Amino acid sequence: MFDAAEFDSHEAVNFVTDADSGLRAIIAVHSTRRGSAIGGCRAWRYANDREALRDALRLSRGMTYKAAMAGAPFGGGKAVVMVDPARPKTPAMMHALGRAIERMGGSYFTGEDVGTTCADMVEIRTATAHVMGLPVEQGGSGDPSPNTALGCFEGIRASVRHALGKDDLRDVRVAIQGAGNVGYHLCALLASAGAQITVADVDRTRAQRCAEKFGARMVDPPRLFEVEAEVLAPCALGGILNADTIPRLRVRIVAGGANNQLESAACGAALRDRRILYAPDYVINAGGMIQLAAELTGMPAAEISERVRAIATTLLRVYRFAQERAVPTNAAADLLASQMLVEACP
Ligand code: NAD
Repeated sequence: MFDAAEFDSHEAVNFVTDADSGLRAIIAVHSTRRGSAIGGCRAWRYANDREALRDALRLSRGMTYKAAMAGAPFGGGKAVVMVDPARPKTPAMMHALGRAIERMGGSYFTGEDVGTTCADMVEIRTATAHVMGLPVEQGGSGDPSPNTALGCFEGIRASVRHALGKDDLRDVRVAIQGAGNVGYHLCALLASAGAQITVADVDRTRAQRCAEKFGARMVDPPRLFEVEAEVLAPCALGGILNADTIPRLRVRIVAGGANNQLESAACGAALRDRRILYAPDYVINAGGMIQLAAELTGMPAAEISERVRAIATTLLRVYRFAQERAVPTNAAADLLASQMLVEACP
C-alpha cells in the first residue's frame, strides 16, 4: 500500500462502513499542508474495492495539486461511495457519510462530484457543517459546473492562442467527450464564441440536447477520438488518454474538464511526442473548486469569476515552464504544484 504509485504519501485514508444504511466509502486525505483538504464525493459502481481505492487516491492527490495551482488556501481530499444495484445511494448513506466526515474534525470538506448532487450535500449537511456546494437558498453557491466550464473555456482559448496563434475561437473545431454538467455548459460557451462543435455521450439524449440547442454535430462515443479537430475536450471520466486512444487522435490540443485524463503520467510524454498540447486537467478544471473554496473563505462573487478566468494565465505559465524545462506539460504542472506545496510549509 505505502509503496503504490497512487498512494503518494497520503496523510490519511479512511475506510468507512455503516451497517444500518449499507454505506461503503473511502475518504482519502492527500494533504492538509495548505489548509483543510477539500474535494468532492463520487458515487460510482466500481468493479472492486481496489478500483475504488485507486480512484479515491488519484482524485485526492489531484485535488491537492488543483488547490495549490489555483492559489486556494486548501489541501486535497476525496470521498468515494461504492454503489451497486443491490445497494443504491440513499439519504441514510449520505447521513452516515456526513457523520464520518464530522468525525474527521474539519480536516476534510466534501462537495459534489460524479454521481452526487446538491440534494446529497443537503443530506450530508444534517450530520456535518464540513460540506460545500449546498443550494443557493441554503446559503451555498450551488452547482459548480458552470464555473468549471468557464475555466475550461478560458483554458481552451489560451491553449488555442499558444499552440495555433489564433486569438479567437471562431470556426475552431472542438470535439467534446461527455455532454453532462460540464460538457453542456462548455458547449454553450464555445457555441457563443463561434466554435464548430462535435459532441459524443454514451447517454444519447445528452448529446442530442447539445445538438438541438447549440448546433453541435453528434458522433458515436468510440469515434470521437478519431474526429479531426483543433481541440479535444474530455468532459466525461478519467483514463481516456492512453495507449489505445493517443495514437488515434487527430487534434492539436487536448483541453477539457474531466479529472485524471491521463491513464498514467507517461501518457503526457506520449502526447508531447505527437506534438499535441495537453492542458493539465487539474489546472484547467479548477473553476468549480474555486467557487466551492470561496464558500468557505467568503470570497465575493466578482472575485470568483476573476479567479476562474485567471486559469488561462496559470495554464500559460505551465506551458512556458514546460518549454523551459523541456518536459511534458503534465510534468511541468506537477513540478509547479509541488513547489507551491513546499512554499506553503517552509
Ligand atoms: P456528469 O456525470 O454530469 O457528465 C459526464 C457525462 O459523460 C455524462 O453525460 C455521461 O453519460 C458521459 N460519459 C460517460 N462516459 C462516457 C464516454 N465513454 N463517452 C462519452 N460520454 C461519456 O459529470 P460532470 O459533473 O459534467 O463532470 C465531468 C467530468 O469533469 C468528471 O471527470 C468530473 O470529475 C470532472 N469535473 C467536474 C467538475 C464539476 O464542477 N462538475 C469539476 C471538476 C472536474
